[in-house]
Amino acid sequence: MISVQNISKAYKIHGQPFTAAEDLSLTIDKGEMVAIVGHSGSGKTTLLSMIGGLTRPDRGTVKIADTDLWALSDNRRSEFRSRTISFIYQFASLIPTLTALENVLLPSAFCSDQNISNDKAKDLLRRVGLADKEKFYPAQLSGGQQRRVAIARAFINDPQVLLADEPTGDLDEATEKEIINLFHSMNKEQGITFVIVTHEQTIAASTQRRLSMKDGRLIT
Ligand code: ADP
Ligand code: MG
Repeated sequence: MISVQNISKAYKIHGQPFTAAEDLSLTIDKGEMVAIVGHSGSGKTTLLSMIGGLTRPDRGTVKIADTDLWALSDNRRSEFRSRTISFIYQFASLIPTLTALENVLLPSAFCSDQNISNDKAKDLLRRVGLADKEKFYPAQLSGGQQRRVAIARAFINDPQVLLADEPTGDLDEATEKEIINLFHSMNKEQGITFVIVTHEQTIAASTQRRLSMKDGRLIT
């Protein structure tokens, strides 16, 4: 499902190149759940955003479902991403002028059947424990609740691949467990492939496979 070969990424910091990811290769099967762990600054977000089509690697290839992501034009890549990949960002990114329900619905704006989307968005909000908050605006929700809305939103378009960057970072333990359970049911019910960057032992311990990063490299 995901095939990463020899990707590297250097950022320029004060004119000097700084290697954030060096010669990374990995393969993830369809329906697999993989955790990526490592200290802050080890390159986890950089790796995830290269897999997700957000950061172009300096070299190497990323294939998602046999599509060479970085060989596509910008337009084709955006289109492919919206059909295939969903991203849960490290920092919740809701639209402040839309309600919780509208935020969850947003990625399905171009879906032909809005009735189906509406029911699905309500069901997703229920699954993240926010059934009673659908009409609330982000400013009326706690940080953890906003994050749960962003998690619900990630599933609205039936992605094949879900990339999550520290998705439970600011959630309490009980909510974190619920989110992990949600990920596992989505994985079982829909065969979604998960790559989860996490510091949380509970998540890392719950996935089939764990990859560790250190100083921009994958270590074993
Ligand atoms: P992690 O997610 O594991 O904390 P990151 O991938 O965010 O690590 O960052 C890896 C390294 O690359 C860090 O040293 C960080 O400072 C640097 N870095 C990340 N993004 C940028 C950027 N846009 N410009 C310059 N340096 C960056
Ligand atoms: Mg990060």
